[in-house]
Amino acid sequence: MYPAPFEYHAPSSLDDAIALLSTYGEDAKLIAGGHSLLPLMKLRFTQPAHLIDLRMVPGLADIRDVGSSVVIGARTTHAMLEASSVLQRKIPLLAQTAGCIGDPLVRNAGTIGGSLAHADPGADLPAAILALEAEMTAVGPRGSRKISAHDFFVGMLTTALDAGEVLSEIRVPVPPARSGSAYEKFAHPASRYALVGVAALVTLGSGDVIQQVRIGITGVGARATRAATVEQELTGKRADEALIRDAASHAAEGLEPRGDLQGSPEYKAHLVRVSVRKALTRALDSVV
Ligand SMILES: Cc1cc2nc3c(=O)[nH]c(=O)nc-3n(C[C@H](O)[C@H](O)[C@H](O)COP(=O)(O)OP(=O)(O)OC[C@H]3O[C@@H](n4cnc5c(N)ncnc54)[C@H](O)[C@@H]3O)c2cc1C
Repeated sequence: MYPAPFEYHAPSSLDDAIALLSTYGEDAKLIAGGHSLLPLMKLRFTQPAHLIDLRMVPGLADIRDVGSSVVIGARTTHAMLEASSVLQRKIPLLAQTAGCIGDPLVRNAGTIGGSLAHADPGADLPAAILALEAEMTAVGPRGSRKISAHDFFVGMLTTALDAGEVLSEIRVPVPPARSGSAYEKFAHPASRYALVGVAALVTLGSGDVIQQVRIGITGVGARATRAATVEQELTGKRADEALIRDAASHAAEGLEPRGDLQGSPEYKAHLVRVSVRKALTRALDSVV
């Protein structure tokens, strides 16, 4: 199917993109990689009269190492995240998660900003962004503001971005020394979307005591979320196999898995428990 007719705009600055959003309001949509928006337009689930393309806006597609954090432009593609030597060295969780998305075609076109702004409940990056406690910058007609990962994902396909705002960049703190991480994805064999995806980030203190652990989960409910109970259960304890197994067995508590064509709520809860155990085990194995 073809999308409904629309007018195409290619602003050459962020200010122009924001001005166009203000002018056309609800009739307008931003487009970045188009890999989530265009399928919806072709199905006519959404019919924007104006498409505002971010591809000509300079400075939105880069990865900057600023010491204690890495700043990523919203139009940076999944392939760029995966291939980034800065991320592989300093924040491997993000590079690894991006490398699990779809196939090379999807990773070459899809962007981190598009994925986060779209907030698909099965998208991979939100799990890593939550575990890394990243901070989003939203720019709109009234200037810019920061939104924490915790506050960003509001519900199914819904974020804390206002209608007139553009997500411009994502600041990701570099994990402290003695940290390890892993993204564990149970992918649908056809779509490659996550039935369940778990991003784990663990930091050890002296005597291998878990100083800090953060777990982001995607695919289960209406939005990506943190496994707060498991995090609390592990913090301050010495990391070993029995502890991880025990804590992971509670990982689905407090979540409300969606039953759908891919599986029942019970099946999804089982996948959560197994994936949390695997992600934590791999994260601990990767601590250097
Ligand atoms: C075959 C296929 C397989 C896929 N598999 C996976 C997978 O395994 N895992 C996964 O996570 N994803 C998967 N995706 C989705 C893919 O990663 C998308 O590219 C991504 O979710 C959206 O990024 P985009 O740049 O294409 O956004 P677009 O489609 O251009 O935009 C998506 C939405 O975000 C808004 N938007 C875009 N950029 C901004 C911005 N800077 N500020 C504010 N709003 C913005 C748009 O208005 C739109 O509403 C798949 C897609 C396809 C087609």
